[in-house]
Amino acid sequence: MVSGPAEPSPPLIALRGIRKHYGDPASGQPLVTVLHGIDLDIYAGEFVAVVGSSGSGKSTLMNILGCLDRPSAGSYHFQGQDVAQFDSDALAWLRREAFGFVFQGYHLIASESASENVEMPAIYAGLPKDARVQRAHALLQRLGLGERLGNRPNQLSGGQQQRVSIARALMNGGQIILADEPTGALDSHSGAEVMVLLRELAAAGHTIILITHDRDVAAQAERVIEISDGRIVGDSARDGGGTAQPAAPRAATTAAPGQLAPVPQGGSASAAPLVAELLEAARSAWRGMRLNRVRTSLTLLGIVIGVVSVIVMLAIGEGARRKVVEQMGTMGTAILYMGSKPPATGGPAGQITEEDLAAVRELPEIRRVMPVIGDPITVRYGSADKQIYVFAASEEMPLVHHWKPKLGRYYTEAEDRDLAPLVVLGHKAHQHFFPDTPNPLGRQLIIGTSAFEVIGVMSERGADSGAQNYDDMVFIPYQSGRARVYQAQTQPDYVVVEAMSSEVVNEAEAAMHRVLLARHGGREDFGIGNAAARIQAEAATRQSMAVMLGLIAAVSLVVGGIGVMNVMLMTVRERTREIGIRMAVGARQSDILRQFLTEASLVTLSGGTVGLVVGALVGAVLVLAGVPVVFSIRAMAGAFACAVVTGLVFGYMPAKTAARLDPVRALAGE
Ligand code: ADP
Ligand code: MG
Repeated sequence: MVSGPAEPSPPLIALRGIRKHYGDPASGQPLVTVLHGIDLDIYAGEFVAVVGSSGSGKSTLMNILGCLDRPSAGSYHFQGQDVAQFDSDALAWLRREAFGFVFQGYHLIASESASENVEMPAIYAGLPKDARVQRAHALLQRLGLGERLGNRPNQLSGGQQQRVSIARALMNGGQIILADEPTGALDSHSGAEVMVLLRELAAAGHTIILITHDRDVAAQAERVIEISDGRIVGDSARDGGGTAQPAAPRAATTAAPGQLAPVPQGGSASAAPLVAELLEAARSAWRGMRLNRVRTSLTLLGIVIGVVSVIVMLAIGEGARRKVVEQMGTMGTAILYMGSKPPATGGPAGQITEEDLAAVRELPEIRRVMPVIGDPITVRYGSADKQIYVFAASEEMPLVHHWKPKLGRYYTEAEDRDLAPLVVLGHKAHQHFFPDTPNPLGRQLIIGTSAFEVIGVMSERGADSGAQNYDDMVFIPYQSGRARVYQAQTQPDYVVVEAMSSEVVNEAEAAMHRVLLARHGGREDFGIGNAAARIQAEAATRQSMAVMLGLIAAVSLVVGGIGVMNVMLMTVRERTREIGIRMAVGARQSDILRQFLTEASLVTLSGGTVGLVVGALVGAVLVLAGVPVVFSIRAMAGAFACAVVTGLVFGYMPAKTAARLDPVRALAGE
């Protein structure tokens, strides 16, 4: 408590030589000195009026008193502590716990109700919601606004708005009420009401510093300080011969608000509970989004488009990639075809002889040469017969086709050379001839007119993209096929050639061409098909398509992020005054930062969620339309995370700007 008259207590506020300059000669703006060395002591419980004509520096002085602004020179001691040593959190603490501001322009937040405006200082002080609402309602009730709790400022008269701002000043105790022209914008009746309130508060022990240009208003205070051109030219306490601390005796006898606790240094002591503050920030963010529906939906649209395009384009790219991989899986990426064909100059087609094959096999670029004869032939088992494509090729077929028997084995090179009558069944051929025999090994199949022994069944290959389905076929050794089934045939239908690697397919093609041309006496009566080059080209095309799609997706995501930044910048600019008000009632820089980051997250999280849903819908439509798309949870999670991170990154800068704002300048809406 404030001490009695016998023992003089130190002043609550002590200003010494306070000066304030504006402008900066270094950057060409003339230096203007607004306060020329103010010395002022204010004691707890005093009701002081600072009176002076317009432009005399009253508001500048009040902003310094209220720690909304820092002096250019001089010292300010609050309860004996040097304010210049306080960090921004300690200053926020002072504004929150010690001061209550009442402004000429009320400075209420337009989007919040009367009750919410009054509650705000308590939010930053960490008061639980119930207690906060109760106190705000009680205060408003006491000030005659019990019927107007839910009204927004624009639904209140000027006098009512000023009473709301007085209630807000009292919310955290308001030990020191700083009122800058509180009656300036009011009609005389409302102005008189406000003055009655201030006198009551003074009587209840609050320290009141009232700033006015009106001598009649000032006369209602106990001590009048006159200011002119930035200098104190009169002080009723001094000039009137009164005691240096006129208020002390009265303050001691009234229910004054308690002496303030020492200002916490470091600022963490009275941090509000995190969850409550986040909820509060989310609530006000949500309100801001609702109030600006058009702008919000445009931002959301940007993010949604970003997320949807990432998801869908990655799915299309992956679908295309899988298709190529499938093709590669069937035949590999180093396959060439060779066969005879009539030369372009006319004449008969050539012959691909055994010697030709041997010569090609010798080439260093070539790994395998597999001659193939294949035609539909009547195949019989017991009484069942069917036209089946009989694939006669060398023992290398499983290697060339990247394919293995699931039952039994494939024939060997020696068996091929010895014209062994062996057959390996495709999966469906097995089902057709031996539906009830899981293991048909050792059975005899009649192919054409010869009997072949089943020695294996190939694994199921599934639907290949090509015209033939290998599962329907049966496979026999090349030489025995030529000798026993395709008697009339002297050369292969076609030859599958595998190059050493996919890198040398073009060299292999050139070498084959050279050798065959030499062997055929310069007659180009053969053809070489470069399947590998085709698949590679296609893979490259699809790859670059996937990259391009990815780029487009990334660009749209970035554009979405820039949209968030744009909105955040606009929001910060539009709401500079709101930020100033929040700081004046005691928000820390971290509170402001958190609020704007919460808004950015809310926008990006909802945009990301909508994007996921729309992306899945677009994907479903594409699947119905037969486009090969492969959705991956990872891509979706990635797109979502990217959207949120981009939004936060782009939202951070404006939020940081907002948090760094100077309270006076923010209040002025600069
Ligand atoms: P009062 O409240 O007594 O009317 P102010 O304290 O608002 O006066 O202003 C005092 C003087 O300081 C005025 O001449 C005004 O032009 C000047 N001033 C106030 N703020 C600024 C500023 N941000 N930059 C430059 N000059 C300023
Ligand atoms: Mg002023």
